[in-house]
Amino acid sequence: MNKQWQFHGGVSLKEYKQVTDISLVALPSELIYPLLQRSDCYAVPSVTPGQRVLKGQVIAKPQHHLATPIHAASSGVVKEIAPRIIAHPSGLSDSCIIIATDGLDEAYPTAPCPNYLLETRDALRIKIAKAGVAGLGGAAFPTAVKLQAQQPIHTLIINGAECEPYISCDACLIQAWAQEIVQGALIMQYILQADTCIIALENTLPATQQALLEVTRHEGIQIITVPAIYPTGGEKQLIEVLTGVKIPARSLPAEHGFVCQNVGTAYAVYQAICLGIALTERIITITGKGVKQAKNIQVKIGSPIKYLIAHCGGYSSTVQRLIMGGSMMGIALSTDDIAVTKATNCLLAMTTSDLSSSQASMPCIRCGDCATVCPAELLPQQLHWYSRSKQLDQCQGYQLFDCIECGCCDIVCPSHIPLVQSFRAAKGELIIKEKQATQANLAKKRYHIQQQRRVKEQQEKIAKAEKRQATIDKMKAAAAKRKKA
Ligand code: SF4
Ligand code: SF4
Repeated sequence: MNKQWQFHGGVSLKEYKQVTDISLVALPSELIYPLLQRSDCYAVPSVTPGQRVLKGQVIAKPQHHLATPIHAASSGVVKEIAPRIIAHPSGLSDSCIIIATDGLDEAYPTAPCPNYLLETRDALRIKIAKAGVAGLGGAAFPTAVKLQAQQPIHTLIINGAECEPYISCDACLIQAWAQEIVQGALIMQYILQADTCIIALENTLPATQQALLEVTRHEGIQIITVPAIYPTGGEKQLIEVLTGVKIPARSLPAEHGFVCQNVGTAYAVYQAICLGIALTERIITITGKGVKQAKNIQVKIGSPIKYLIAHCGGYSSTVQRLIMGGSMMGIALSTDDIAVTKATNCLLAMTTSDLSSSQASMPCIRCGDCATVCPAELLPQQLHWYSRSKQLDQCQGYQLFDCIECGCCDIVCPSHIPLVQSFRAAKGELIIKEKQATQANLAKKRYHIQQQRRVKEQQEKIAKAEKRQATIDKMKAAAAKRKKA
């Protein structure tokens, strides 16, 4: 039994996981790919309308180092590049590549690597980047960037401890492809040259542990189960539980010798290296009482959500809200007319009874329960007070940006105050303010440079005129001298 530690706060939640067999879904007629990946990180189309594409072919290239290339998940023709609603709480539309599939699922040639140990670590990183592999735990951070640590890494943690109460896609993936996940983990351990590799699992799902124990016997990988206290699956919380090391706020795990990757990411790394396959599919959980049949499905990235809901028998009559992600950290969608992205791990259809707890909020009674459960050790009641009264500087003073939006404070608040909602809004306002300030600064700098250039030009003009005048005066003097002589 490995020694374990406890992070501050957290809550025990009732689990609704249904670890099912992974179901396959027929190819949709359209695949939709938003070009916006993370905030402000766009990919640029490398295809044009009317062009035929193959499964695995790059259709958009990253414009930013925190974006990944996008690959077509099936063969077909680029129908258009046009605005469509994307997975965003505001329900905004943005540019998407839309592929009309042709049903052939014809694949682009792949380049498998039979022995990764014969490749350089840089060559493997490049392959992972080219395959578009991103964190499949929900953040979609480019995996190759995370594997390019500037500091030595001693421990690689593969996170299979998804502690959101409804999400079971990682557990299903482990049960179906434990061997491949271990291969992906070993590849990443080799790239990072990490001494230790740990696969962390929830202690409530013994079958996943068994599946991994059977394939890791000779690999030197530790399989460790952790208690299902939410949010143990958070990167920093998991590191603390497993090692006792507390990663400070605004500090990255890599700065302390740790890299965390999701089990789905490990599987995608295996596919990218050993099979030469780009990331075009993932497993997602479709669940909640608002959908007729809960399933874990292997889906093509770009599949329309409404098509997948139909695959699960459609909505039940009591459906009230569709959430992308889990019940704790997910975002409510304004429509199901959007597509699955690399970050989509769960679609949760909630009913009226699920939402009965969203009672009218009452004034804060200063009980302090929110602070007791906050894993970031913040004072949510203070943050709420300042965010509600738009005292954004105070919010920053109370470390608003350290809030991981886990929702623990919301869950325990006896006054039913939607705390996270107000934190998200305040963060949004601060980000806009910061952007405006940066733009204003840039404009000021540009104006200053322009002014300096104008003054310089003016001075040069005067100097030139003076020089010219001096030459003329000199010539005149010489002429006068000649005349006199
Ligand atoms: S949502 Fe933020 S403030 Fe609330 S408990 Fe989580 S980290 Fe703390
Ligand atoms: S839990 Fe709710 S009522 Fe209690 S201090 Fe926090 S915000 Fe106020």
